[in-house]
Amino acid sequence: MHRPLRLTIDRTAIQENWRWLQDRAGVPAGAAIKADGYGLGARETAQALYQAGCRDFFVSTWAEAEALGPLPLGAGLVVLHGVGPADAEAPLASTARPCLNTIEQVGRWKEIAPGRPCDVMIDTGINRLGLRPTEIEALDRLAIDTLHSHLACADEDDPLNEMQLERFRAVASAVTAKRYSMANSAGICLGRDYSFDLVRPGLALYGGVPREEADGHIRSVARVDAEIVQRRTIPAGESCGYGATFVATEDTEAAILNIGYADGYLRGFSSRGSAFAGEFALPVLGRVSMDLIAVGCDAAPGLKEGEWVELDYDLPSASKQSGLSQYELLTTLGSRFERRWV
Ligand SMILES: *Cc1c(COP(=O)(O)O)cnc(C)c1O
Repeated sequence: MHRPLRLTIDRTAIQENWRWLQDRAGVPAGAAIKADGYGLGARETAQALYQAGCRDFFVSTWAEAEALGPLPLGAGLVVLHGVGPADAEAPLASTARPCLNTIEQVGRWKEIAPGRPCDVMIDTGINRLGLRPTEIEALDRLAIDTLHSHLACADEDDPLNEMQLERFRAVASAVTAKRYSMANSAGICLGRDYSFDLVRPGLALYGGVPREEADGHIRSVARVDAEIVQRRTIPAGESCGYGATFVATEDTEAAILNIGYADGYLRGFSSRGSAFAGEFALPVLGRVSMDLIAVGCDAAPGLKEGEWVELDYDLPSASKQSGLSQYELLTTLGSRFERRWV
């Protein structure tokens, strides 16, 4: 069946982004592939990164671990949300290990899988998931593979970064684990003090630029193209789209494209997004609809029904246009795309 919108995902770009992050960190890099690989595809991403040498993968839930299927030899999978009260069966049936976040989870793991390896999250200041540094006595008799912490403000220059680093160093010296890990994509940019033994990038693998240090090194991964459903001229003085927010000051050539907010092209792009026809930029005219947008194509008058145009979905630039975070831009991409891995 023909699909009038297409997501093209560049496997080589994911691999090269991972290599840059690992080189920058100076220690092995894992990969966060939760939320189905940030919306692009967890299985394909894991496969591409395994090929590149990645051996540590992170999902959020046991359902995500199961959906991923078995990983190849030597690869480890961690379930970041740990073992909850309803998770008795799944962890025992899985080769993934939990990252334990609370005293309750630690107790549960000791009970259901005594001696079996796990990871542990220490909360050093984000106050989201993890044991507080004062709770580490609970960790005795655990076989900890990796002890983690997670940065709250790594994408900014915030004093909390160094405070978290100091707190994690103190905990790491008191808790025995095979490895220690703290940095996400932005944390890798902060410098090697944050690397410890393993880093956990997500966003930057998929083309997100978390901080300016990564600018020029991270390649764009996802490309969005949509087909033209109709070509029309909007007569001077008439409007286009819901709410009539765009009014043509002169006769305006427009292409109506097969993409809208139901595909994750959210309304933040209304009158602010753009598409490309070759080197010509085509501005979004008026509001984004559920399944359609209009782009002005005075710059490319030859465009016809059935031809394709590329949306500007370069993450830093699309984030500025739409007001959405680079994370949201990836994870909201919908299910109607034809997905092509190249
Ligand atoms: C999602 C996540 C990451 C990856 O973060 P990015 O900002 O996408 O690089 C790393 N560690 C933990 C604990 C996470 O939840």
